[in-house]
Amino acid sequence: MNWESVEKRKLSWSEICGMEYNRLSFIIRATYDFGKNPACPLCTVPATLKHILVGCRTSLTQGRYTWRHNRVLRCLAEKVECKRKSINAQPFTKQEERQFSSVFVQEGDKPRTSPSTPDLGPLKVARDWQMQADLDESLIFPTEIVTTTLRPDLVLWFNSQKRAYVIELTVAWEEAIEEAFEHRKLRYANLAAEAEDRGWKIKVRPVEVGCRGFVASTTAKLLKEIGIRGQAQRQAIRDLANTAERTSQWLWLKRADITWAAKAVS
Ligand SMILES: [Zn+2]
Repeated sequence: MNWESVEKRKLSWSEICGMEYNRLSFIIRATYDFGKNPACPLCTVPATLKHILVGCRTSLTQGRYTWRHNRVLRCLAEKVECKRKSINAQPFTKQEERQFSSVFVQEGDKPRTSPSTPDLGPLKVARDWQMQADLDESLIFPTEIVTTTLRPDLVLWFNSQKRAYVIELTVAWEEAIEEAFEHRKLRYANLAAEAEDRGWKIKVRPVEVGCRGFVASTTAKLLKEIGIRGQAQRQAIRDLANTAERTSQWLWLKRADITWAAKAVS
């Protein structure tokens, strides 16, 4: 990889894949390091950037990639939780009660708000949103929706109208993002069908953040869909990108450490 190819990639990613570009610094630093360690210190496979960041089986079993995934997930969960709390704290106006009495915005529809109502997205239809993240404690899927051993990364739901978002985050090599999407949507197809039989409306949202700091359009769309918009959306995308980049950088720097000590990372 050289400077020219880095620039070319930047253009193709942002233009073709619709990803948000963060910054090149880590890629460039990592590129400069090439050649010093031709073999992966953990498994002897050639230590390309891709191998170290997403492809090393030893890194996988040591939990290095899970650690990065959970750091990015925590960042996303904090954004969603903040939005959830602010929505739940808002009193319903009479107008909203009329507007949202039995509406959960359908795929592709715009929320029915008047021009004078701040556009907070479909979450505004309720004030009893709950959220669970598969972080400090293993997520147990809300049994009022369905009984399952599946553990999505985030579940956002409200009981009053039986609506839920099932959010699955992947931190991936940028070029592999498209491939992962459909597969992950299918993983929750049965769960969604079973929940719908019980009167629930489930939205399955696989989202991606590239491991080198590119935030996929699926993530940007999800943020917008749940009402994180404008400046807040841009800040969330920046924070997610920085978290992915910083943690990948750590994985790169620690590639020669045989033992994995994620706990030492602040
Ligand atoms: Zn390896």
